[in-house]
This record gives sequence, C-alpha cells and structure tokens, in this order.
Amino acid sequence: MKIYNTLTRKKEEFKPIEEGKVRMYVCGPTVYNYIHIGNARPMIIFDTFRRYLEYKGYEVTYVSNFTDVDDKIIKAAIEENTTAEEISTRFIKECKKDMADLNIKPATTNPLATNEIAGMIEMIETLIEKGYAYAAEDGTVYYRTRKFDGYGKLSHKNIDDLEAGHRDIKVTGELKEDPLDFVLWKPKKEGEPYWESPWCKGRPGWHIECSVMAKKYLGDTIDIHAGGEDLVFPHHENEIAQSEAANGVPFANYWMHNGFLNINNQKMSKSLGNFFTVREIGEKYDLQVLRFFMLNAHYRTPLNFSKELMDVAKNSLERIITAAENLKHLSGVTEKEDMTGEENELFEQTELFVKKFEAAMDDDANTADAVASVFEFVKFANSNASAESSKAYLEAMYQRLFTLCDVLGIIVERKQEILDADIEKLIEERQMARKEKNFARADEIRDTLLEMGIVLEDTREGVKWKRA
Ligand SMILES: [Zn+2]
Repeated sequence: MKIYNTLTRKKEEFKPIEEGKVRMYVCGPTVYNYIHIGNARPMIIFDTFRRYLEYKGYEVTYVSNFTDVDDKIIKAAIEENTTAEEISTRFIKECKKDMADLNIKPATTNPLATNEIAGMIEMIETLIEKGYAYAAEDGTVYYRTRKFDGYGKLSHKNIDDLEAGHRDIKVTGELKEDPLDFVLWKPKKEGEPYWESPWCKGRPGWHIECSVMAKKYLGDTIDIHAGGEDLVFPHHENEIAQSEAANGVPFANYWMHNGFLNINNQKMSKSLGNFFTVREIGEKYDLQVLRFFMLNAHYRTPLNFSKELMDVAKNSLERIITAAENLKHLSGVTEKEDMTGEENELFEQTELFVKKFEAAMDDDANTADAVASVFEFVKFANSNASAESSKAYLEAMYQRLFTLCDVLGIIVERKQEILDADIEKLIEERQMARKEKNFARADEIRDTLLEMGIVLEDTREGVKWKRA
C-alpha cells in the first residue's frame, strides 16, 4: 500500500512501526459552531482510510482531538453571555451527531485540549530545559523556531524566506527574540478561561495541544498524522518542531493532507454567503450523499461542491443501493438454495472488481477509482442475478457489495421509516386479502412489513404487531 507523504512529496510504501498496528492522529475541529462541509472532508476521507486499513487486517488506534479552548470559542461565549465550556460542550455534542450521520466511526479516543493541560505544561518545561523555548517578561512562552534545524521540512519552506516575509510586518510591542518564534503559552486576558502554570495564569497555544495529545495517546513516534492541507503550515510544521525537539525522535512517519473544498468554484466563506454547515446539507440530503460525493474525488485534489454535483452523487448512490436491495429481494423470493457451478464461476469473476477496488485504495487511497470498481460490480450484479439465481449466490453477491461499500462507509441498506398509521393500514389490507383468499398478496404484505422491521403475530384477538 502506498501513501503520498507530504514530508517527502512522494508516494511511499506504507510500513507501520509495529507490524499489524497503525497509530493515526487526525487534527479535529475547534468547537465553537456547527461543523461546516470543509471540516467534514478530512473526517470522511481519513475515516475511509482507517476503514480500509481495518479491512486489510490492521488494528488501528485512531485519535482525533477537539480543540475546546480557543479565541473563537471565547468570542462565541461572550456573544452568548455564557461560558467557553458551555459552548464547547454543546458543539462537541452537535459535531458527534453530524459525524454519526456521516457514518464516521467513533475514534479510539477523542481527547479534549482542556483535559490535557498538565501534559502541555510538562512538554513546554522540557522545551525550555532543552533551550527550545523561553518565557518572556509578561509570562508568554515562545518556541525558539530557529533553534530547530528541521523547521520548514514539512511545508518545504526555507526559514530565511519566512524571516524575510516577517521583516516587512514587524510587530511592535512583542517580546519575542525573533519574529518567527511562535506561542506555546499565553497569559490570560480579563474574563478568559485560564490555568495555573510556572509562567503565568494563562492558556496553551493551539499547536502544543496536538503534540501533547499525540504523544500521550499514541507515543513519541506515530505512523500517520493527517489533516487538511491548510494545516501544513504553520500548525503541522510547529507540531513537528515541538514534538521532535521535546522527544528527540521523529514525530510522524507519514503525513497525509486533503485538498480544499470549494463552493461553485469559489473559496467557501461566510462573507461570500456560500458557507454551509453539515447540518444544513442534512436538511436537504441524506448525509450519506455528502459522504459519497466526497469519495468521488481523490482526497488530495481540490473538490468543488455544488447542488448539481450533489444531485449527481445522489443518483449514483441510488444505483448502488437499488442493486443491493435487488439482490436482497431476489434472495428472499428464490426457491433455489445452493450455488450452481455456473454461479460459482460468475461469483469468482467478481473477484476482479474486488482486486480493482483494493488496487485503487492501495494507491494512496484513490477512492474515486474504488467507487468506479463498485459500479462495475453493480453493473455485473444487475445483469447476472435474477429470481432464477440461487439463494447462496445472491447472498454471496450481496455480501460482497456490502463489504466494499462498508469500507467506503456507505450503508447499502435503505433506511425505511414507517409510521404506525401506515402499518395499521397495511395490516387491514392484509386482512382483506386473506378474507378474499388472496394469500399471495397477504404474504407479500407480511414480507414487506418484515423487511421494515415490523413483525406480525396472528392471535385470537386479531393481529398484533411490534417493531423488531
Ligand atoms: Zn493539530
């Protein structure tokens, strides 16, 4: 399996530190509002990648944080006249709901920055001891960027170019030794949440959070660190500087970054009025459609979002679900049990689609090609399955489609919700059919209800039903 590594700018063969195990860290959202569809892209992409690793037999420890202390959270709290904690608690809950609707598997651990302050203070102390950080007069602790030799290796930036860029915008009144130095700890301002520290009452900078949470939950060197392309610089560059200086070993072996999401070929922004939360999209579409839409592009390419493209995704997804539904339906009605020799051959032919699927995913998680091989399977299944097929064959075909879609996080079982009144109506219709000795229709209604999870029980008092 090959992964494009931002660090080396090459596709590299993936080799985990420990055989059969993968330690993966994905930067999570800052929780001050509902997540937007740009936030959803890395969540969907790296969840799919994790699912594929698990499909390949790896045991994956997947850590994704919530940044629950930040300027934006404090600002939202002031606007609502509440606490930062209330804001972050609320939006973590909402974020988890959106993630569940996007069928994103829960992480092994979702650490919260505010629970890890002690570890952050400890790492900052180590950095100070090693000469990589210093406390300024006002209690702010800065990272001494030039001291770290590898600075710029992830973003492929030259430190002197960075310095030149900074020289034009000299900030006065700052207590930094060098304009490139960044904040590890900052003093509190009036009304802000704060923690005690050896330097001042204050709170951590954003970058130190991820270095500490990755270390605590995954170790000093991890296999994969992932996130959006916008995090490469400075966030991930700074994480490397902190972690490698403090721990003395490489931080992450592979760095994966997803491309930007645009709306109608424009950058998504509130000021342009083209800003969508996942919740808003969920009001118009099943969120599976959003997931499927995102998988139709390679994760490193920019992705353009539009209503037209979402509708195309919706129709394509419908074709997969219909094919799965059809296989399930046929296996319920066929009278033949065992697979014939001919069916066995047909089934073996579908190995080809599985191989194509795996080859696509092995090639730097090319989900677009993986989806294409699912469609090849669907086409084959549609023309090679009928009520004449055996139950064993139809079930094997269904299972294979189910498994491939499950790697993509696509649920092929249609969600059917039926109201009590509709159930009663169907039961009434079934009673009529039985009276008229139309037993075929009566059985059909029973089966339809059963498919929707409604179990009928004929009793002396009449028909009773319950949700299975
Ligand atoms: Zn991070």
